[in-house]
Amino acid sequence: MKVIDFFKSIHFKLIAIYVLLILIAMQIIGVYFTQQLEDQLINNHRDTMIEQSNLLAYNVEQEMTETRDEDDPDLSSSIDSLLNEIFPLENSEVQVIDENQVVLSTSSVNNSHIVGQLSTEARVKRALLGHPPDDEILRDAETGERKRVLAQPVESDGTVIGAVYIESSVEQIFGEMQDINNILLTGTAMSLVITAFLGIMLARTITRPIGDMRKQAKMMGEGDYSRRVRVYGNDEIGQLADSFNELNMKLKDAHITTEGERKKLSSVLTHMTDGVIATDELGRIMLMNNRAEELLSTPSDSAMGRSLPEVLRLSESLRPSDLYDYSEAILLDFSDEEQDYLLEASFSVIRNVDGPITGLITVLHDVTEQEKIEQERREFVSNVSHELRTPLTTLKSYLEALEDGAMDNKELSSRFLRVTQNETERMIRLVNDLLQLSRMDSNDQELYFETKDMSSVLHEIADRYEMMIKDQGISFVRHIPGHPVYVDVDTDKIIQVFDNIVSNAVKYSPDGGTIRFRATPEEKQIRVSIEDEGAGIPKESQQKVFERFYRADKARARTLGGTGLGLAIAKEIVQAHGGQIEVESEMGQGTTLYVVLPYSVYKQAGGEA
Ligand code: ADP
Repeated sequence: MKVIDFFKSIHFKLIAIYVLLILIAMQIIGVYFTQQLEDQLINNHRDTMIEQSNLLAYNVEQEMTETRDEDDPDLSSSIDSLLNEIFPLENSEVQVIDENQVVLSTSSVNNSHIVGQLSTEARVKRALLGHPPDDEILRDAETGERKRVLAQPVESDGTVIGAVYIESSVEQIFGEMQDINNILLTGTAMSLVITAFLGIMLARTITRPIGDMRKQAKMMGEGDYSRRVRVYGNDEIGQLADSFNELNMKLKDAHITTEGERKKLSSVLTHMTDGVIATDELGRIMLMNNRAEELLSTPSDSAMGRSLPEVLRLSESLRPSDLYDYSEAILLDFSDEEQDYLLEASFSVIRNVDGPITGLITVLHDVTEQEKIEQERREFVSNVSHELRTPLTTLKSYLEALEDGAMDNKELSSRFLRVTQNETERMIRLVNDLLQLSRMDSNDQELYFETKDMSSVLHEIADRYEMMIKDQGISFVRHIPGHPVYVDVDTDKIIQVFDNIVSNAVKYSPDGGTIRFRATPEEKQIRVSIEDEGAGIPKESQQKVFERFYRADKARARTLGGTGLGLAIAKEIVQAHGGQIEVESEMGQGTTLYVVLPYSVYKQAGGEA
């Protein structure tokens, strides 16, 4: 948190305002008060002086005009006693001057030498000339002392017979004023200290909740909503603190909701089977879920901040903004020589309401399997069409030949009809095989299991084929146990499996070749193998012979009347019995087909049918 300079803080400002206010108030009060008081005191002093002077003038007049006896003290003594005893004025010197401007008496002991001398005061002269009382504050040239001087004429029956001159120090008043000023200064200083203290306290009552709120706001910024601001009172700041606490609660709720939503979203993204990538408006990757990492084999750490087209390995000339216009999904082909790998990427832009595009969401979906199935479906349709077209074309051409006259040739017509019959039978076989496969695919084919002695089943098949091909010079060798080996099978279907395998062995066996039947009972299963001495199947085709319509040697297989579905059907049946079918072949030496069947398909499947 930024530290606030003390001199810029509200704390300091409040104290400064307080102190300045008090200072200004005290100054105004002080100046006004002392000025008024000073004026008042000076005026009082003057009034008293004038009063005293009037009284003195009257008494002096009485003394001057009094008729004196021999016993009476002379005028000078009477005025002396008058000045010293009756009008002893504090801090003042009083002089009485006769009409000739001669000083008759003075109250100042230090100044007694001026008695009998002419007064030098201009004011006295003016008074003797009959001017009304005249006063003024003067500063003593020697001592610097301020004093009020006053000269008043002494009149008797309208004639000036003398004057009274008073000098009275006003220093005491200014001294008192100085004391009062000192008191005021001390008072100001004390009130400033008290005010500063009160200012600190007041400032604290304001700044403490504000500081509290500041601290709380910082914690809220860091995601901690547990703290509450203390409410000190029901004033504006208290209400602000209340509102702040309310805001805190609402933010906390909003935070919990957002956090919940975020977790939900994160969990959805984590467990999604599709990959999700979010980018910013510049197409830089901001988020990538686990599935997207897996699909692209790119850890999100290394993908963060990189351009989306680069991570999706799209064309280098493609800019991220070009993807905004892709309304349809695009197919990303990551296939290599070993395996196919196809991803489908769909894009949707994130846009502010009526605003600019702020990002792009890309959803990745692994469509390898889907594409494979689609590809197989296309191939299947094409294969079926092809397989049907060949016999149909043959049929058509033979029928046309018959129509064109071959019908008249008995030998030719019967040969042609045999061909058409064979082709028709081949088509029927093909359609039957297809129907059987289709039933197996849709699980419509029900298997009727029975416990059958596999040795006798294999003997029967071998017997049948021996009978059928006795003219071809192919011999059968049997390594079949002489005792029964009971296996749970759907007999018809298992016979179909071995028919398909044995017929192939016969088809591809050279004249005079040997076909070996072998049945080996094992612990939980029986292993049957049919081995021939035919041309064999190339290594790269060995696993494909179980695929539909696959023929290792296309031309030969077709001439031999195969549909290309025999081993595919055999594999489906064996798997439905819980067994396996495998091929082993060496080019030029022969082929062995292995069929492994569990004794009991129920036990194999964990005791359940
Ligand atoms: P077909 O009806 O063409 O025989 P199959 O599904 O039974 O169809 O066999 C698939 C392909 O496997 C055959 O076309 C053939 O090329 C090859 N094949 C199967 N059995 C043998 C075998 N015993 N010897 C050589 N090739 C075989």
